[in-house]
Amino acid sequence: MSQQENKKPGWGGRLSAPGALRELLGRHGFHFSKSLGQNFLINPSVCPRMAEACGAQECAGVLEVGPGVGVLTWELSQVAKKVCAVELDTRLFPVLEETLAGCDNVKVIHGDVMKLDLSRLVQEEFGGGPICVCANLPYYITSPVILRLLEEELPLRAITVMVQKEAAARLCGAVSVAVHYRSVPRVLFPVSRGSFLPPPKVDSAVIRLDLREEPPVEVADEAWFFRVARGAFAQRRKTAANSLSSALGIPKPQVEAALAAVGAAGAR
Ligand code: SAM
Repeated sequence: MSQQENKKPGWGGRLSAPGALRELLGRHGFHFSKSLGQNFLINPSVCPRMAEACGAQECAGVLEVGPGVGVLTWELSQVAKKVCAVELDTRLFPVLEETLAGCDNVKVIHGDVMKLDLSRLVQEEFGGGPICVCANLPYYITSPVILRLLEEELPLRAITVMVQKEAAARLCGAVSVAVHYRSVPRVLFPVSRGSFLPPPKVDSAVIRLDLREEPPVEVADEAWFFRVARGAFAQRRKTAANSLSSALGIPKPQVEAALAAVGAAGAR
């Protein structure tokens, strides 16, 4: 094979070099948005490990949330049949066009992952799946995104995501009933804050949730189950009774009585 034929399309590994990334972003007049959780990966070992670990080969494709400049997207395109990446920030589209040029198995879709019709997307882009999810999630919606993916009846095999270390412990820990109900979670590897541009205040970790074929317990009303699970952990600094009362619109004494009945009075 000639050198030309061997050459991979797009920017590939060059995106992990801080200098090259700064040059690219500067040329496109891009400034990081803190409110969109934009901390881009610059550690060259992380994306190949995530792409390798996410189970792409066994699926019809990979759904990525928030491709940023495409550093993980590019790695996924090397191992997956198809990659569909949902990005909210339209300023990144010209950048992605450049960095993923020639990556014919990648499609970037504009949208908010919390609002998109994901079932339709999986049907249209992946012929109904099965798919896996791989992403460096924007930290401000880590739990909502994961809960949404678990709650909807999507043909998902696994979810491999970068989250802040505290969120990794919370999501993989025993308190995360919704996660354990739908999946078997584990922490894959830690990632230091210096692996990102700009560096966040805390370290991160990559976790993988393997979707169960059957839930471990029988639940009479799944929609209600997920509402309760979301409500109980929505406000981290509040007690479970306060959180549940405001999330479900049920008076606090009633919630307290229900929690006491299951031995969880005073839970946080
Ligand atoms: N994947 C890139 C990387 O690893 O360097 C970027 C990850 S950065 C932590 C999160 C990305 O999610 C950003 O590109 C941001 O614009 C995007 N994003 C934020 N909120 C989003 C939303 N609601 N829906 C889709 N993408 C979103």
